[in-house]
Amino acid sequence: MTLGTINSKPKPVNLADVVEKARDTFNCGVTRPIEWRRQQLKNLLRLYTENQNAMIAALQKDLRRSKMEAVLLETDYLINDLKNTLNNLDEWVKPERPSKGFVNMLDDVVIYNDPYGVVLVIGAWNYPLQLLLLPMAGAIAAGNVVIVKPSELAVACAQFIAEMIPKYLDNDAVIVVEGGPEETTELLKQRFDYIFYTGGTNVGKIVYEAATKYLTPVTLELGGKSPVYIDSTVDIRVTAKRVLWGKFINAGQTCIAPDYVLCTKEVQDKFIEAARDVLKEWYGDEAQKSPDLCRIINSRHYSRLQALVDACKSKIAIGGGYDPKERFIEPTIVANVTGGEKIMEDEIFGPILPIVPVENAYEAIKFINAREHPLVLYVFSNQRNIHTLFNEQTRSGSLCVNDTIMFYSVETLPFGGVGNSGMGAYHGKATFDTFTHKKSCLIKNFAVIGEKLGSMRYPPYNDSNMSR
Ligand code: NAD
Repeated sequence: MTLGTINSKPKPVNLADVVEKARDTFNCGVTRPIEWRRQQLKNLLRLYTENQNAMIAALQKDLRRSKMEAVLLETDYLINDLKNTLNNLDEWVKPERPSKGFVNMLDDVVIYNDPYGVVLVIGAWNYPLQLLLLPMAGAIAAGNVVIVKPSELAVACAQFIAEMIPKYLDNDAVIVVEGGPEETTELLKQRFDYIFYTGGTNVGKIVYEAATKYLTPVTLELGGKSPVYIDSTVDIRVTAKRVLWGKFINAGQTCIAPDYVLCTKEVQDKFIEAARDVLKEWYGDEAQKSPDLCRIINSRHYSRLQALVDACKSKIAIGGGYDPKERFIEPTIVANVTGGEKIMEDEIFGPILPIVPVENAYEAIKFINAREHPLVLYVFSNQRNIHTLFNEQTRSGSLCVNDTIMFYSVETLPFGGVGNSGMGAYHGKATFDTFTHKKSCLIKNFAVIGEKLGSMRYPPYNDSNMSR
């Protein structure tokens, strides 16, 4: 079912009724059988495979995303995740049988994997398909009814989702609500059994506050400034490639993009030299003409980024160009930045990479720890003790050594932030677990010996029965 329309003002719908109807569906029990879940996931897989070109086209329209990035970072990613879920679903739903003590040796001790009920998934615009549909699939796999709210800023992708979901999935159990802050505010007034939000930290706080009304559990997948530390022991050209790829895919509009680099002045010089070659190889002499660079999602974000480029004009080592007509920001590297500058205040979320010179790893750690916990910390070094140092002395959602972004696709690694970068995690089995309540259950019987074993609990109490 789809409610509202993204192009014009959304049709007024009574969201209280929508959620109530969703609850009726859950209470009827249709979403619980594993056969239903499997069928919905197979339908979703069909949606992905039959409409891959339409998905690529929608991403091209919203972000001028190249086919390669669309396939690698969204469509194939979704397909692989879904196949993994389908392959493991039988195993994941099975009740767990934990170990038990002597007193319970005759009893059943079980942990059931219960769906929460009616789940709300709110998506962001930067990976508008993946960030909404992947948690949605996990919620279905876990047996929930799901209401999804795509980001209104990725118009073509939101429209695709609103058109396709009702064609492939059970209309009573998977519901698309379109709209922006107004509709989301209204949705958040309703009672949900779980809320999964992806987006900025400020709205994350609004979601968290709304969830407290009904003590609804939440996952908040937020952002922040993810640092990169580079030392002198690395292969600088490979490092430049890995850092720049992570930074410039989707024009830097990636929650786990390297936000800034920390390194010594010597490493900074070598990195910039290598970066100049790499960027020329990738995007040619006129980056704006490259088909491989995305555009900024809208004029508000474009103006914010243009102002950042202007603010650090005197320190630009590479790039610095922009074009408001195309919402194009050239891949830009800024050297000799200090912690107090404007560009170091908020998450950049665009193709601008500042480098902050530090004396050594200890100074880098101090710099990182003086700020909010990042979503991910990247460390480039050939020295194990440096990896250990950063691992033990900093806190971040994830840690990735000698690469960027790639940790995100390891399906056995739960992905999520800590502190201001979020709470909760998903991917692979962690997605299923996120939407699953672990219901503990003790099943006793009436066997005489069992009753005898436990009879010391009954009054009148006798000290001699107590074990010491
Ligand atoms: P966005 O503007 O698309 O907003 C996210 C969602 O919140 C949308 O569905 C939107 O409709 C809703 N929303 C916006 N304002 C609201 C309000 N006042 N009240 C209620 N709902 C509201 O996305 P964004 O926040 O611009 O996304 C960018 C941020 O998301 C970055 O900080 C990025 O790091 C973060 N992000 C995190 C992850 C992650 O997995 N951790 C992934 C992508 C993006």
